[in-house]
Amino acid sequence: MKTVVIGGGPSGMICAYYERLNGNDVVLIEKNEKLGKKLYITGKGRCNLTNDCDVQTFLANVVSNPKFLMSSIYAFTPTDTVNFFESIGLKTKVERGNRVFPLSDKSSDVIKVLKNALESLGVDIKLNETVLDVLASDSKVTMVKTDLNSYDANKVVIATGGISYPSTGSTGDGYHFAKNLGHTVTKLTPSLCGFNLKGDDYKELQGLTLKNVNLAVKDGNKEYYSEQGEMLFTHFGVSGPLVLTASALTTKRSFNDITLSIDLKPALTSKELDKRLLRDFEINKNKALKNSLDLLLPKALIPLIIKRSGINEYKKNNEITVKERAVLVSLLKSLEFKLETLRGFNEAVITNGGISVKEVNPSTMESKVVKGLYFAGEVLDLDAFTGGFNLQIAFSTGYVAGNN
Ligand SMILES: Cc1cc2nc3c(=O)[nH]c(=O)nc-3n(C[C@H](O)[C@H](O)[C@H](O)COP(=O)(O)OP(=O)(O)OC[C@H]3O[C@@H](n4cnc5c(N)ncnc54)[C@H](O)[C@@H]3O)c2cc1C
Repeated sequence: MKTVVIGGGPSGMICAYYERLNGNDVVLIEKNEKLGKKLYITGKGRCNLTNDCDVQTFLANVVSNPKFLMSSIYAFTPTDTVNFFESIGLKTKVERGNRVFPLSDKSSDVIKVLKNALESLGVDIKLNETVLDVLASDSKVTMVKTDLNSYDANKVVIATGGISYPSTGSTGDGYHFAKNLGHTVTKLTPSLCGFNLKGDDYKELQGLTLKNVNLAVKDGNKEYYSEQGEMLFTHFGVSGPLVLTASALTTKRSFNDITLSIDLKPALTSKELDKRLLRDFEINKNKALKNSLDLLLPKALIPLIIKRSGINEYKKNNEITVKERAVLVSLLKSLEFKLETLRGFNEAVITNGGISVKEVNPSTMESKVVKGLYFAGEVLDLDAFTGGFNLQIAFSTGYVAGNN
C-alpha cells in the first residue's frame, strides 16, 4: 500500500506518522524548504498546541460543522494530543484558559519532535516539491503528480491547509485538486481577523488597548455576539481577542449593517455611571468637560466621546445638563462603530469554508466521491475559535485519516 500525504503542516505530519505506524509506505510531500512553516508562527511563536478541555467544551468552541468533528475528536482527544507529544519527546504545560503550550515556549520544538518522529519511523519526506495534480480513474485515486515526479498511490491525503497567511505555503491548492475530482468547496472567508471600520474617527484611537470592556456585535437590530475582554484600535479599525472571536461569527453574514457596540464600563449600570459622573462633576465644578473625564476614561478616548456627545468641550461641569449627562452615559455604555469589511486572508488566522464535509466520511476522513482520497486539517470546511482548537482539529482529522 502506497500512501501520499500532501502538505507538511500539522495535519499532514500527524497523518503521515500514524499511516507509517500502521506499516504503510508513506511519502509526505511539502512544497516549502521545511516542514511546518505555519506551525512555526502559531501562538506568536509559542504554539498553542491544543486546549486541555473535555470533548463537549471542545465542540462548543468549533464554529463550523462541530457535528462532523465529533467522531474524530473522540478518536483523538486533546488529552491524546498531549500524550502523543509527550511520547515523542515534547514536554508541555497548561496556561490560562486551558491553553496547552510546549514547556520551552518554542514552536520550533514542536516541529523538531514531529520531524524526528517521522524520520525515525521512515516516512519518506520530500521537501521543495509541489504537488500539481491528483489523478483518479474509475472513482479511485491512482497518482499524484508533482513538479518533479509522479507517484502511484492507492491512498492520497490532501492536507494542504486553507488560504490564510499564504506566505506560509497555504495557497489553497487542495481546493483545486478536490474540485477537479468532483468535490464541492464552500465559500471561503477570512476568519479570526480584525475588522475594517467605516468612517474615520476610529483613527484617532489607533494604538489604544481597551481591557475589561464588553463588545457586542449586531446585524441590523439582532445582537449575535457579546463578550467581555480585551480589544484594540489599529490603523484599519479594531483587532484583539474579542474582535477575533467576533469575526468568526461574522464570516457568513453580509456586511451591510453590522454594528460594533463597546460598553466601556460594563461593571456599572447606566444609573451607577450617571451617579459617578455627577460626583466627578461636583468635585470639579469649574473645570471644563474636556479636562474632567481622565479618571473615567483613557486619555485617547476623551476627544472622541466629547465630539460624539455634541457638548462644547469647554463647557464647565456645573453647567452640564441632566440631558447632556444622559448622552455621555449612553456613549460610555455603547460606543458604536460600523463594520466595513473583515481584514483579508493575508492576516486571517484561519480560513472559514473549505471542502464540503457532506462529501467526507467523518469517521475516516475518506472522500465519499473518490475512493482512496482523504482530507485532513484546515482544507476541510472546519474552523474554531482561538485557544488551541484549530490545531486540535488538524491533529484529530490527521490522526483519523492516517489511522485507517
Ligand atoms: C498567525 C497564526 C497563528 C496561529 N496560532 C494558532 C495557535 O496558537 N493554535 C491553534 O490551534 N491554531 C493556530 N493557528 C491556526 C493553525 O496554524 C492552523 O489551523 C493549522 O496550521 C492548520 O494545519 P494544516 O496542516 O491543516 O495546514 P497548514 O499548517 O496550512 O499546512 C499545509 C501545508 O501544505 C503545504 N502545501 C500546500 N499546497 C501544497 C502543494 N501543492 N504541494 C505540496 N505542499 C503543499 C503548505 O506549504 C503547508 O506547509 C494559527 C494560524 C496563524 C496564521
